[in-house]
Amino acid sequence: MERGHRVSKELSNNTKPLRPAVTDRIADHQDVLLVDDSTFIHDLIKRRIGTEALTIHSAMDGERGIAMAESIRPALILLDLNMPGMDGFQALRRLMNSPKLSDTQVIVISASDDTEDKVAGLELGACDYVTKPFNLPELRARMRSALRTHELLTLLAERAQVDGLTGIGNRSCFDERIDEEVSHRIRTDADLTIAMCDIDLFKQVNDTYGHAAGDEVIRGIAKIFNRLLRKSDIACRYGGEEFAIMLRDTCVQRAIPVLDRIRKQLEQTRWPSHPEHTVTCSFGICDHPSGDAKNPTDWIKTADEALYAAKHAGRNRIYVGNGSGMQSSLKIAS
Ligand SMILES: [Mg+2]
Repeated sequence: MERGHRVSKELSNNTKPLRPAVTDRIADHQDVLLVDDSTFIHDLIKRRIGTEALTIHSAMDGERGIAMAESIRPALILLDLNMPGMDGFQALRRLMNSPKLSDTQVIVISASDDTEDKVAGLELGACDYVTKPFNLPELRARMRSALRTHELLTLLAERAQVDGLTGIGNRSCFDERIDEEVSHRIRTDADLTIAMCDIDLFKQVNDTYGHAAGDEVIRGIAKIFNRLLRKSDIACRYGGEEFAIMLRDTCVQRAIPVLDRIRKQLEQTRWPSHPEHTVTCSFGICDHPSGDAKNPTDWIKTADEALYAAKHAGRNRIYVGNGSGMQSSLKIAS
């Protein structure tokens, strides 16, 4: 009871928005790649523009520039047009077609003052065109502008993956991450547990205490996830009152204590708008899907079937689906 009271106080006092779990990847340090065949330009830009917050990487030709860009994924590329071998236009076309570089900005730097070259560079997707010999303060200002655009694009892409109510990842974030996690598991044979979690009888909360109370419960559960999951775990709001969690490098035996702490914490939470009404969650988890282990959908389906069985068995429990037939493989974890 005492613990429940403490949690209730924490929930009611904390009006801060939840930490946006997927927005903290934005770098306070940025990488710029200079692709130019002139060592003089490399020396000049490194000396006069590189700072602690801005690392300038160097490539002396287009081929090397593309390879480095795909590996570093810089915020900005300064690209010379006139280079031996692959010229700047060819390099620009390839950079623009690389899915890894969709947010990377490109400024063409060229000795050519020809309008056709400028138009071609901008039409191919460069954000700016600066002629050599350049004025350093002007180049710096144009670079700052391109870096701001990159930061905004990154922020937009990240925001598109954050759930507005809870600040944790949304469905689109989960869909993207599960693809990566399942591929990683196949490549490395590392453990992976997928958990689907659903709030028990959530409709009762909404119907009895109103939608604001329902929202408070969804936010509160996300907050418990943020507090009790490990750094390597990824929790997302899958939709409505359903959450999906990826527990990386974790088999179900190790996932169960982690999730059971969440289950118990939730059971003990007293909610400010309905302290007399306890909220619980059911979990369905799996570390082997019942279908194709390479297919993320089969992982979700197996965990979902276990969740359904947990609900059917009385809710507020964790069920495991191990991929070899639901009825025989289920066990009550708590
Ligand atoms: Mg050149």
